[in-house]
Amino acid sequence: MSDMNYDELSFTTRSIHAGTEPDPASGAIEPSIYMANSFLLPYDPSTMNWSASEEKIYTRNGGVNQGMLEKKVANLHGGEDCVVLASGVAALSGLFFTKLKKGDHVIFSTVTYVATYRIFNELWCDKWGIETSIVDCTDIEKVRAAIRPNTKLIHFETPGNPTCCICDIEAIVKLAHENNIEVSVDNTFSSPYNTRPLEYGVDYVVESLTKYINGHGDSMGGAIIADHKTCEDIRYQAQVNIGGCISPFNAWLIQRGSQTFPLRMQVHNDNALAVAEWLDKQPCVSFVAYPGLPNFKGHELAKKQMKHGFGGVLSFGLKGEHDLYNRVVTHLNIFTSAVSLGNTGSLIVFLGEDDERMYLYPEEFHGGFYRVAIGIEDKNDLINDLRQAFKAEGLETVD
Ligand SMILES: *Cc1c(COP(=O)(O)O)cnc(C)c1O
Repeated sequence: MSDMNYDELSFTTRSIHAGTEPDPASGAIEPSIYMANSFLLPYDPSTMNWSASEEKIYTRNGGVNQGMLEKKVANLHGGEDCVVLASGVAALSGLFFTKLKKGDHVIFSTVTYVATYRIFNELWCDKWGIETSIVDCTDIEKVRAAIRPNTKLIHFETPGNPTCCICDIEAIVKLAHENNIEVSVDNTFSSPYNTRPLEYGVDYVVESLTKYINGHGDSMGGAIIADHKTCEDIRYQAQVNIGGCISPFNAWLIQRGSQTFPLRMQVHNDNALAVAEWLDKQPCVSFVAYPGLPNFKGHELAKKQMKHGFGGVLSFGLKGEHDLYNRVVTHLNIFTSAVSLGNTGSLIVFLGEDDERMYLYPEEFHGGFYRVAIGIEDKNDLINDLRQAFKAEGLETVD
């Protein structure tokens, strides 16, 4: 494969081959796991830059398995470069830490991963003098109104975790760039199989590799996909000198999992649509939030921005009181009560009405809801599992 121009190959082929070569020393056709914390130094190391990431010095500066994964993830997003860190949150904070400074203003969307909310709403504002505005980024006019002379970055998710709300990537990029503002998108819910935000002119993309790209629920990692200069800055600041490096073993696991990522993602897309359509018909269900449903706000935009499907996560509510949610979960045989998403197995989490961020979500979420991460089991088994759990609580269902 060494002479291949990866860009000419399909996404599925690149998911298997990009970034890896047979090992020339052993002839092994799959990469080894290089669990060394440091590398042999040259004859005279005294003049070396200990914060360099391009030379193999120390695993916090970069390593063999990390490098392979970075090449693959950059390729899958069509990016110039990629930095892989210990978790999705390490990638988010690594990007923000590197790009923002005292006095900057950030617009971030009302529906984001909880760590993003905490960073911008609580942890960084007073301590580091960063101004932040929490804005419903599904409404471009609200984004426009929030822009200040010192606005540096607009950050959002689409679909957003957990309401699945859809933001118009192209429109936000246009507005931002007209005003000299950069844009970062947390693409975890969509994954590069469905959406590649760089194609819309987004400056920085963040992925939690823990989710769909690894796909097997057995390791954590995160990536920032960006231009080479930004990636070098992130390596210097957030990786080498703050320390968010990923373990070579986790990088290897994610590289291995990523080979089947497009195949799995298509099944996540198909299964989640089938489950969402079934839930939408059930008399006991109060609402279903899934971008693939024609009655979902943002559906038309999602069709445009999401190439192969609408992702594997949906949220829904039940017509009933708080503890009904807990009781229904006890009857489920296939779904596991756990956070996260992108695993092979389906997961469900009950988010109650007292959740501190409920005020940011649409009205229908306020009584509590489930966030469901649909796995790659047989979709009929998933629907049957939900049906029998509803019935066990005397809830009204239809086929
Ligand atoms: C899970 C998640 C993250 C955080 O990723 P970790 O790997 O758990 O640190 C960030 N953004 C979104 C949208 C997520 O779902």
